[in-house]
Amino acid sequence: MRRLRRIKIIATLGPKTLNPASLRQLIEAGVDVFRLNMSHGGRDAIRDRVAMIRAIERDLDRPIGILADLQGPKLRVASFAGGKVELAKGATFTLDSNPAPGDAKRVHLPHPEILSSLEPGHRVLLDDGKLAMTVVKATPKKTTLRVDIGGALSDRKGVSLPDTIIPVSAMTEKDRGDLDAALEAGVDWIAVSFVQRPDDLAEVRKVARGRALVMAKIEKPQAIARLDEIMEASDALMVARGDLGVEMPMEKVPGLQKRITREARRLGKPVVIATQMLESMITSPVPTRAETSDVATAVFEGADAVMLSAESAVGQYPIEAVAMMNRIANEVESDPLFRAIIDNQRADHESTGSDAIAAAARAIADTLDLKAIIALTASGSTGLRVARERSQSPVIALTPSIDTARRLALAWGVHAVTTEDFTDQEEMVTRACAIATHEGFASPGDRIMIVAGVPFGSQGATNMVRIAFIPKH
Ligand code: PEP
Repeated sequence: MRRLRRIKIIATLGPKTLNPASLRQLIEAGVDVFRLNMSHGGRDAIRDRVAMIRAIERDLDRPIGILADLQGPKLRVASFAGGKVELAKGATFTLDSNPAPGDAKRVHLPHPEILSSLEPGHRVLLDDGKLAMTVVKATPKKTTLRVDIGGALSDRKGVSLPDTIIPVSAMTEKDRGDLDAALEAGVDWIAVSFVQRPDDLAEVRKVARGRALVMAKIEKPQAIARLDEIMEASDALMVARGDLGVEMPMEKVPGLQKRITREARRLGKPVVIATQMLESMITSPVPTRAETSDVATAVFEGADAVMLSAESAVGQYPIEAVAMMNRIANEVESDPLFRAIIDNQRADHESTGSDAIAAAARAIADTLDLKAIIALTASGSTGLRVARERSQSPVIALTPSIDTARRLALAWGVHAVTTEDFTDQEEMVTRACAIATHEGFASPGDRIMIVAGVPFGSQGATNMVRIAFIPKH
């Protein structure tokens, strides 16, 4: 199954799509990576879901990435005696440590560590920012707030604290159990929610021990404040625009999206644009023009992937949403302006052998209009360095590792194929040409480029480019 599109599509699975028939249709419509939201389902559920995806993957003979998204320390108020209260602007409201049901004056905040971290002047946002309050007085058991934007507040609504450094790691006890279950089930990527500091990622990486790569969800101002270190500590980034747009002024999100995308491209780390991309398709078979333009912007920026959330998890038109993303991406990528914009945003290559080789391969492939760049990659690192170049020629990553092939499902323009290790260069050329032809990228008489590290099997030594002709017989 060859795709023409370079940007990848991630679809979140949910009640609407967690069945073999939908999975197959989603992949056929364009999904490259499935996202499993760990907020729903226990250990058995994740194992069954991964097994279901792997069965379809085998059937379609196409490496599919699986991203497990940890819930993280999502803060919520407890319940109200009447299920819901109405809070007026200017009123006083209290969050406290008393587990009794709440009323219009107070409610329990079942996170003692948060009560002790709030300070006068900090903002407290509730229900995705629909209500806004400011801390007037704070003690370890009780925080008094002034209501700045009022409205209805009901049971278990989310609490966002844009000004408060939360003194807990991005992993809760539930997340630790979910992480073990996801790793055991064999997922490829772990997304870490509400990252505040690089240590949050180090903790996940330590548990993962190379079994999965780590993606930082950027959704807190604290993460923006330490963005460089967080990017350094992660394998990939997600611009999690939902929570980011609650915790930061919404109008800052587009600029942050551009900044994170460019920086991730500079580092050669996959970057995902997420949330509300085709939101209206939850209930409508066609998106709004503004949503279409939003997806197109991510494609023009050279992001590695665009993501669907509720659209594919619970929406009425999951397949149509994927097909729509696919159509938008294909159209943008063939727009005459696309190449100029992508090239303009390409950062200078870094001064390593692998980057110099990747840049040279791209320059040669573009000059000679080669049909494909074949990257031999065991760990996936050479595949990512070549993807970073955003070449005109498609990239075929050849790897002996199915894990690497699945991880690369997230990377811009990379079509991964598993194949045994190579023994010598002549065999490499013969097999690379055969695979490029078999996968539909080249025909007899065409030329391709091969990027490899010789001697074969030596880690981290990308040191060779070679142009090869596909034989005519
Ligand atoms: C987001 O906030 O944009 C996001 C992707 O996170 P979640 O869907 O887990 O809330």
